[in-house]
Amino acid sequence: MAKIYTFVNQKGGVGKTTSAISLAAFLGYFGQKVLLIDLDPQANATSSLGIDKRSVRNGTYEVLMGNQPIGPHILHNPRFRLSILPSSPALAGAEVELIQLPNRERRLLEVLTPAMDRYDYILIDCPPSLSLLTINGLMAARQGVIIPVQCEYLALEGLGQLTQTIQRVQTSLFPELTIRGVILTMYDGRTRLAIDVVNEVRKYFPDKVFQTVIPRSIRLAEAPSYGLPISIFAPDSTAARSYAQLTRELLAGDGVFIPEFVKQDQV
Ligand code: ADP
Ligand code: MG
Repeated sequence: MAKIYTFVNQKGGVGKTTSAISLAAFLGYFGQKVLLIDLDPQANATSSLGIDKRSVRNGTYEVLMGNQPIGPHILHNPRFRLSILPSSPALAGAEVELIQLPNRERRLLEVLTPAMDRYDYILIDCPPSLSLLTINGLMAARQGVIIPVQCEYLALEGLGQLTQTIQRVQTSLFPELTIRGVILTMYDGRTRLAIDVVNEVRKYFPDKVFQTVIPRSIRLAEAPSYGLPISIFAPDSTAARSYAQLTRELLAGDGVFIPEFVKQDQV
């Protein structure tokens, strides 16, 4: 049964998409069967993996709204070692259209259910809002949410609103919803500010922050324009090593055993 994690933070540009793609690719590298769901109408995860979002006719929108089975819409990329349900700008319409549907908060969970036994991990990349699409992402997060936080000024801003939303979903819809972990992204150890932010976030989310911190990296910023995950674009970079390390941390926390030969690999 797939472990499902949802990447959420209503702030844009904090590293949700980058983290979802990089973790998906390294989970694949470590032998896990991975499905990445692009739940953002901006479709950044889709384009960052080299898929033209304007060409997507069968993606998240069609599966959510059309009662179509998810299977045929999933694209598998053996080189990236992951599968993706791509998004397209059409998904913006779902925000409005979902409101009229019964079970509007559970649509994604329902359509994902048939795929759950075909993957080890399903990662969901949310839009930068606390909209109905994001609520669908939260309702599907069976093993919890992962919150990327940028190590910048005002990093904590908005996190109160996010945790309130999570609590509201816990209270009214999904009591088992948990925070699986917080990822510190775009860390620049040369600045006092970044060090302070790390300490503040660790205080704000005691025991929830992943040990592995993701550095600010030009390679991570470049990879999307080449349509490649960092595991392939720059496997020897510090950024790739950090995401590989974060993936190991996630797997270890999940009790998933990685064979020694993979662990010792350079990546
Ligand atoms: P979100 O999905 O939260 O909006 P993204 O993952 O798209 O955020 O990241 C925002 C921008 O920052 C993108 O252009 C991305 O390539 C870049 N980026 C993400 N992580 C890093 C990093 N660690 N170092 C440098 N640039 C990064
Ligand atoms: Mg994004």
